[in-house]
Parts: sequence; structure tokens; C-alpha cells
Amino acid sequence: MASIKVLIAGGGIAGLTLAQGLRREGVECLLFERDPLDRWRTGYLLNLDVEGDQGLEACLAPELYELFKRACGQTMSGHDQSVVLDPGGNVLTSMPHFGEAATGERPPTNIDRRSFRQILLAGLDDVVHHGAEVAHVELSDGGVTLVLADGSRFEGDVLVAADGVGSAVRRKLMPEVEIIPSPVGALGLFGRSPLTKEAVAELPQAIWDAGFAIISDGRGTMMGVGHWDPRQPLKQAAAELGVAGSFDEAEPYFMLNGAIPPGVEVPPLAEWTPETPRLMHETMIAAVAGWHPVLQGLVARIDPATLFSHPFRRLDPTPPWQTSRVTYLGDSITAMLPTLGKGANMAMHNAAVLRDQLLAADRGERGLLYAVAAYEDQMRAATYPLMEIAADHNRFGGGGLRGPSPAEPTGVSA
Ligand SMILES: Cc1cc2nc3c(=O)[nH]c(=O)nc-3n(C[C@H](O)[C@H](O)[C@H](O)COP(=O)(O)OP(=O)(O)OC[C@H]3O[C@@H](n4cnc5c(N)ncnc54)[C@H](O)[C@@H]3O)c2cc1C
Repeated sequence: MASIKVLIAGGGIAGLTLAQGLRREGVECLLFERDPLDRWRTGYLLNLDVEGDQGLEACLAPELYELFKRACGQTMSGHDQSVVLDPGGNVLTSMPHFGEAATGERPPTNIDRRSFRQILLAGLDDVVHHGAEVAHVELSDGGVTLVLADGSRFEGDVLVAADGVGSAVRRKLMPEVEIIPSPVGALGLFGRSPLTKEAVAELPQAIWDAGFAIISDGRGTMMGVGHWDPRQPLKQAAAELGVAGSFDEAEPYFMLNGAIPPGVEVPPLAEWTPETPRLMHETMIAAVAGWHPVLQGLVARIDPATLFSHPFRRLDPTPPWQTSRVTYLGDSITAMLPTLGKGANMAMHNAAVLRDQLLAADRGERGLLYAVAAYEDQMRAATYPLMEIAADHNRFGGGGLRGPSPAEPTGVSA
């Protein structure tokens, strides 16, 4: 028996899925998350697919996986389609999402990111350290030491850098990797609008059926419209399943992103003043003047307090590196544009692959470095091609108007 201790930097979807997977199999792990518990601002909605679903099923305890299924949005008839409409609500293109479609009685559709985080945190109180910023990493033959910004040190056998596209760990060990800023049509402004019966009744059917659709005016203004309407309220489902944790009474909503005309700058969140949400909201309202009245209504009803901006950044596939006791998971190594809706799904898929390899090392069935190398090979093979396709946003996403013929797979997500 060669029990190992796993350290995880970053408590996003990637790090938390891995922590759940290790915990489920009794492998010792500690996770260090820089932000306080309630910050989760990379969008509102997350679209899910088969790969993410299978990764989650492998990593979550059965009752948590069931909670996840219930918290997902209800299955829409067009959930496997990527739809682009004109401002009048007429369908311009409709194509299957990239990759295998989710099937079954309750295929994963989409989920509210905050609810998802609460599910992924359940049962990990003794694993997750919040407000713990990873600053350094020290490697030795016998182990790895993680040093936090406050100077505290933690030793383990392997460190998984799941600290996102700006990964502090990657910057230390692979400083040559460049982050590529990728502004795509000012889609990185997000807000929420109440999901009312009236709005649903009037919404163009194709937008409702798809769950998420892009409206494009053909002159550079685009708006994403998605909705989250869970199969069961999260708090109620958790109580019914006996899952302990901190769960919100999350209300269904429409998520709107973009609706910013070309040439209008969306300031980075750090530069927002108390006036910025109102100004952004007014800009959005003006941008959709003349659009379908229901779309105008959705934008008008956005709660300015829910508006925020999030920059799009990505990495190119990093050439293979020397395997060591530090490895990478999720956006720290595979950050891609949301074009295909694959970033988080592949992070969950790869978390399950890494969990299986680390479990084999923990059981003494495989050397630790061999296990890490096997994971890295599988992760690159499955994910690098998607990073390259997603980078071609104007062809495979962003309204899908400029390029792909109907025979080509595409998908857009936010
Ligand atoms: C607008 C948008 C829409 C998207 N839509 C989809 C979609 O529909 N489907 C999909 O599959 N993917 C989607 N993605 C991609 C998806 O959001 C990411 O791939 C996924 O969230 C990555 O998860 P992660 O855990 O690797 O990284 P992150 O979510 O970035 O998490 C990293 C965590 O590490 C923490 N951290 C950072 N630095 C440190 C440090 N020094 N010390 C400790 N902790 C640290 C951060 O606080 C954070 O919690 C979308 C992305 C965007 C931007």
C-alpha cells in the first residue's frame, strides 16, 4: 500500500470535482482556494454535455450526483442544438452542438454556476481551505511543498494546479506559457432577468427550446439568451436527499450576455464604479431597440446589480513538459474560448481520468510519476484538439454566421 497525499490549488469546477472524486475513494487530499466562499463569477449558466456528466458521475457520491441532476435545468427539446436568430426572433442557423449529444431520461442540460459550486462543496469542509492563496511551490525528490501567500506550508506527494487560466503554479513552473486575451464581440458582459410566465409565453419558441441561443444583428451586436429552470429547487432537493451543505433558494432566471454594440468598451470589473452597472444597462437597452419586443423586455428587466464583466482569455495547447509531482487540471492548462461549451465539461472529464490514475498510485498499483504521465497523455489527447477548434470563434461560434456550412458541427455557450 502506497497511500498518497494530494494537494489541489484552486476550488473551481476542476479542483472541486477532483476533490470529490478523491474523497469518494478515500484518497487523502487538501484543497486551497484563494477566494472567499461566495464568489463565483465566470458567468451564470454552465451548459453541460456527456463528457462533463460522465466525469461528474464518476467523481460524485451517488446522492450528490442525484442532487446535481435535479438542479440541472429541465430538458428542452432543442438542448442539443446551437441556434442563432435575427433580432426579430427568426432562426438563421440551427446546428447540433459539437460532440456526442446527451441522452437518457434526464440528460444534463445546464446549471446555475452558484448552485453547482454549492453542490461540489458539499461534504468537503475538512478538505477545502478558503481564503488560501497559493503563492509558491517547491519540488523535491520525495514530495512537493505548497506555500501560501501568508507563508504557511503544506507538504504532499503530488500537487494538482487547478487554479484557472492565470494559474500561479503554472506561472512559476512554466513561465513561458502565454495567456491570450480574446475579446469576442463584447459577449463578456453578463446579467440576469427574472424568468416570468409572461416572458416565457411570448419568447420565440426556438430560444426557449434551445435553452441558450445567440441573437445576432449581422452588424456586430450579439446577445446570448439562456435560461435556467431547475428540475427541482436546490434546497428542497438537498433536504429530500439528505445532503448536508449550504444551499440557496435559487430562483429560475434568464441570463443575458453581450448586447453591446461594436466600439463600446466594457470596462474590466476592477474598474467599475457604482455608476457602471446603470451605464452598461442603458447601453444594452439602446443596443436592442427595434429588436423583438420580448427581447427588449428581457433586457429592460435586467437587474443592474447582477451585471458584471468577465474577460475571455485562453491558452494555446502547451507542448508536453517533463512529468513531475506537479500536474495541471482545467483552465490552468486547457483554458479555451466558450465557443464549444467544452471548458468545464472537459475539466470534469479530465478530473475523473486524473482521479483514476491517482487512485491507482494510492493503491500501489502504479508508480506516482507513471500515473501522472498517463493522465497528462490522456488529457492532452482529449482536450488539445478542442482548444484549437474553440479558438476559431467566428467560424465555430459567435453567431455562427460567417463560416460553417450546416454540415459542420458547432456550438456556442455561455
Ligand atoms: C463566459 C463563459 C462561458 C462558459 N460556458 C461554458 C459552458 O457552457 N460549458 C463549459 O463546459 N464551459 C464553459 N466555460 C468554461 C468554464 O467556465 C471553464 O472551463 C471552467 O470554469 C474552468 O474551471 P477551473 O476550475 O479549471 O477554473 P476556474 O473556474 O477559473 O477556477 C479556478 C479557481 O482557482 C482559484 N485560484 C486562482 N488562483 C489561485 C491561487 N493562486 N491560489 C488558490 N486558488 C486560486 C480561483 O479563485 C478559482 O476558484 C465558459 C467560460 C466562460 C468565460
